[in-house]
Amino acid sequence: MNAKGRLNLREIPVILLFFALVPNAACGGEQAAARQSPVDIAGYTESGAPRLEFAYGCAAAHITNTGNFIKVEYEDGGGIRLGGKAYRLIEAHTHNSSEHTVDGERFALEMHLVHQGEAGEIAVVGILYRLNKANTAIQAIIDAAPAQGEDDTEPLSPLAASDYLPANHGYYAYEGSLTTSPYTEGVSWLVMAEAQEMSAEQVAQLAALTGGGTNNRAVQPLNGRQITAYKAR
Ligand SMILES: [Zn+2]
Repeated sequence: MNAKGRLNLREIPVILLFFALVPNAACGGEQAAARQSPVDIAGYTESGAPRLEFAYGCAAAHITNTGNFIKVEYEDGGGIRLGGKAYRLIEAHTHNSSEHTVDGERFALEMHLVHQGEAGEIAVVGILYRLNKANTAIQAIIDAAPAQGEDDTEPLSPLAASDYLPANHGYYAYEGSLTTSPYTEGVSWLVMAEAQEMSAEQVAQLAALTGGGTNNRAVQPLNGRQITAYKAR
């Protein structure tokens, strides 16, 4: 505007440009770059995955029923090395149905083994379960879990995280987020390629412990992120 407060016609294109750019800078730009989880695992490349090594210990500390999740919490449960960096296992919990899908296929259940690095970085190992025969390691969680509103329980058996892993240690890797609030990004995701098996009755038992229903987040857009795979086939 000029000194008298009147709009100068020559300034109109500049003003329009301002309004065109500002919303993008404020939120549109961030939205486009969102790196959220879970995602559909498809179109991955078979090289470039960070090296993942398992070094799980035996002892789960206790089991908590949050009302939404059964959480197996670890204090001395070992952990993983990812790209040579150590991450300590903090907890295991499950989502019903699976959160990640593979080539569009959804699974009956997904376990998340949540790990923390020395600087607070998060790495999550996801294990997918399809319906078939009962799973002994899952049953050990069901048998030991407290009901809703009950105090934490001590595990009846070690609940070693290694008991959850499939025989084949191939995996998919990508950078994403927590799948529950506050959906923090910068999470290293490692989804095991070989699905485990469990029974429909076990899925129902786990769900019943947290009031029934589902507790999985919808698949989020990749927004240009690359998924890598290590011996996934
Ligand atoms: Zn989870």
